[in-house]
Amino acid sequence: MSLRFEAIKHVSHDRTNEPEVKSQKITAIFGESVFNIKTAREYLSDEAYKSLVNSIKGAKKIERNVAGQIATGIRAWAETKGVTHFTHWFQPLTGSTAEKHDSFFTLKSDGTAIEEFDGAALIQQEPDASSFPSGGLRATFEARGYTAWDPSSPPFIIEIGNGKTLCVPTIFVSYTGESLDYKAPLMKATEALNKAAVTVCNLFDKNVNKVTPTLGWEQEYFVIDEALVNARPDLVQCGRTVFGAAPAKGQQLEDHYFGSIPERVYAFMRDYENESYKLGIPLRTRHNEVAPAQFECAPIFEEVNIAVDHNILLMDVMSRVAKRHHLVVLLHEKPFAGINGSGKHNNWSLATDTGVNLLAPGKTPKTNLMFLTFFVNTIKAVHDYADILRASIASASNDFRLGANEAPPAIISVFVGEYLTKVLNDVESRVGTKFDEQDEAILKLDLHRSIPELLMDNTDRNRTSPFAFTGNKFEFRAVGSTANCGHPMTILNTIVADTLNKFAAEVEALIEKGDKKEIAIMQVIQKYIVSSKKILFEGDGYSEEWHKEAAKRGLPNLKTTPIALDAMITEKAKKLFKENNIYSHSELEARYEIELEKYIKKVQIEARIMGDLATNHIIPSALKYQNELLKNVSLLREAALPEKLYKGQLALLKDVSTHIQQVYENVDAMVEERKVANNIANSRDKAIAYEAKVKAQYFDKIRYHVDKLEQLVDDELWTLPKYRELLFLR
Ligand code: ADP
Ligand code: MG
Repeated sequence: MSLRFEAIKHVSHDRTNEPEVKSQKITAIFGESVFNIKTAREYLSDEAYKSLVNSIKGAKKIERNVAGQIATGIRAWAETKGVTHFTHWFQPLTGSTAEKHDSFFTLKSDGTAIEEFDGAALIQQEPDASSFPSGGLRATFEARGYTAWDPSSPPFIIEIGNGKTLCVPTIFVSYTGESLDYKAPLMKATEALNKAAVTVCNLFDKNVNKVTPTLGWEQEYFVIDEALVNARPDLVQCGRTVFGAAPAKGQQLEDHYFGSIPERVYAFMRDYENESYKLGIPLRTRHNEVAPAQFECAPIFEEVNIAVDHNILLMDVMSRVAKRHHLVVLLHEKPFAGINGSGKHNNWSLATDTGVNLLAPGKTPKTNLMFLTFFVNTIKAVHDYADILRASIASASNDFRLGANEAPPAIISVFVGEYLTKVLNDVESRVGTKFDEQDEAILKLDLHRSIPELLMDNTDRNRTSPFAFTGNKFEFRAVGSTANCGHPMTILNTIVADTLNKFAAEVEALIEKGDKKEIAIMQVIQKYIVSSKKILFEGDGYSEEWHKEAAKRGLPNLKTTPIALDAMITEKAKKLFKENNIYSHSELEARYEIELEKYIKKVQIEARIMGDLATNHIIPSALKYQNELLKNVSLLREAALPEKLYKGQLALLKDVSTHIQQVYENVDAMVEERKVANNIANSRDKAIAYEAKVKAQYFDKIRYHVDKLEQLVDDELWTLPKYRELLFLR
């Protein structure tokens, strides 16, 4: 029996070893595996506690000797939980997380065995960095890299089976200080934004000392039976199906969205949620998504650095917990053709230490002017740096989703809703007239009275927009489901910081020339509205008309990663990142190289998998069927039956033979193109060759013939689980 039928049998019969999931009160377990402030208070001396809290607030570095005390406290806590090992946990540019476990166990000089975790081990480690991508930043002879403790993200305990490991969130930098991860730049960008936003806030309110970007992500994913996945080498190796004919029933009935969650998946969800709660991940919602077997979860938003850590951690927890339930989580942006893919909406806003959400309309005209300031600055930032924002979400897997008419197009635009469009138009319409203090535009910014209208826009909002204002936050909807949000968040925070800095300078200049503050602010807001207008779009982002209109407006529509990435290393980008102290030129170029490399490798792997499956699965099955047909036809001929009685078989034989031949020819031709691409030295040219010559030219063509064969060949002979099985068997 082929693996496919074994797997199907397994799904239908073997339910004996499903784990039981206890229902737990969330507040009873929330954060129990985290060394949070409360735990710190319990386990640290006053001095150590104060130093930790100050450093979390970003105020002060932790002294070495205090670090020793903190480390001892953390170990004492961890040991009560049965932890034996610790690791620095970091986010290298591979896209996953990395750990290198060390035990607390050590020997004293006289050979006495003790458990120890000293301050130095907490603060800094030196993992061999040579096997992580560096984009040429680090010559191989200088393989050292450093991980350095990020006190703002609390240590936590990961449980794998019965083993428990203390994980210390860290940044990862090269010997010479260049960042090699997603966290370090994010922290820099968060700081840049903090500084810029505080300056602008202080135009309105001197009490604001800190502004923090907030992130609430929404993670979409598919859940498929493990046995079925194991019978699909493409899912195992690239997380997506490279072949598969559309099932009779896909998502056309739209009966999955918000439908009841299948029992087995429900048990899995509760299980991973419990694990997440222990880790302090504040999950809030869970529901079915549009496609069959697709689901979503979302937490309560948090400070961006923590939210990113929590998302990365969640993806890991989900994948591990799924195993216990004999399920596999697919985080890929497009695991199945013909049905919706997965994204990760990034809900983003700015919070002050005085408790104000800067992107929520306020209660008075003055706070509304502050809202309008941040609102318009964000729009202006997206307008000025749309190409860099687009590059921040470019990846081989997201290419399958963006612009595929179920996710936002690759054209960056901003949706603000009817009401705010009107507000912006009002301000704009006054170009040429000077604002004065009694001006309605300033004094009666009536937003607070229009909250119902805003909420209406919010619920009725445009789902086709890549960057939408949703009442009290912006929602960056083009981020891919596999992405580390740290990267797009770094870019968004940087471009908004840059824009706010320029804004503050322009306002100051007007004030120096004698304008009153509010009037100066209003003048610059108006100028920004005018200059960034073309990024605003309220219509259907999927439509043909929008693509034409966007081209007319001069908005870029970069559909593929190798081209979209160009925006990372333009003079404009280099200046932006240098000036805001996020990336040096060499760091930027290194990142660009790494993204290209990743793209090339992903496409290369998929192309290989396609070749393998075609040669080892598709063609052998099809040949068996072809032989059966041939036998049948020749027997009929021998029996001297009139040919009109087996016209069907003859036509089938012809079809099957044609598709077999086409699969052969196209796979061969694709392999040739791959060889050509592999010989290209320049990585941009190589990535473009992989995109245009290998992927665009052959992937769909090969798939077309394979999927035809799937529909023709005897079901008994087909070895790969079909879409109807992957998506509907639970
Ligand atoms: P929808 O699917 O309609 O977009 P969800 O409730 O699934 O809505 O997701 C909304 C997300 O927005 C949640 O993760 C929530 O925490 C987040 N969010 C709400 N307010 C803010 C904010 N001020 N900053 C960042 N994220 C926010
Ligand atoms: Mg959303």
